[in-house]
Amino acid sequence: MCIFCNIIEGEIPSEKVYEDETCIIIKDIEPIAPIHLLMIPKKHYARLEDASVSEAMELSFMLNKLAQIKDDLGLQNGYRIVINQGKDGGQTVEHLHIHILGGRPLSWQA
Ligand code: AMP
Ligand code: ZN
Repeated sequence: MCIFCNIIEGEIPSEKVYEDETCIIIKDIEPIAPIHLLMIPKKHYARLEDASVSEAMELSFMLNKLAQIKDDLGLQNGYRIVINQGKDGGQTVEHLHIHILGGRPLSWQA
């Protein structure tokens, strides 16, 4: 089982800040910004091209949920979302996840 599936199952501890039936949001263990969260779908698939149509629709619902709860996450001044894809994209965990960065004005390099 992959590390994020283990986190979702509660086998590996994490700092969870949000959970619903489709996803969790946890604090990244190696933050690169004052707020660095990971929004992780509960269904395991590695990359966007592996997502079924219903999983892709679920992703758009997740983004809509994020927009609704951003203030609760301390992101009222704005935020950046990033999805690293594959080797050149710098993806290290093969379970699709959305990085959420904020807490200060970000340069393009983050
Ligand atoms: P990526 O490089 O896009 O695949 O992102 C993987 C992210 O997962 C990195 O930012 C890691 O710091 C983060 N990460 C890895 N293991 C854990 C963990 N156990 N808890 C929280 N974040 C993690
Ligand atoms: Zn997984």
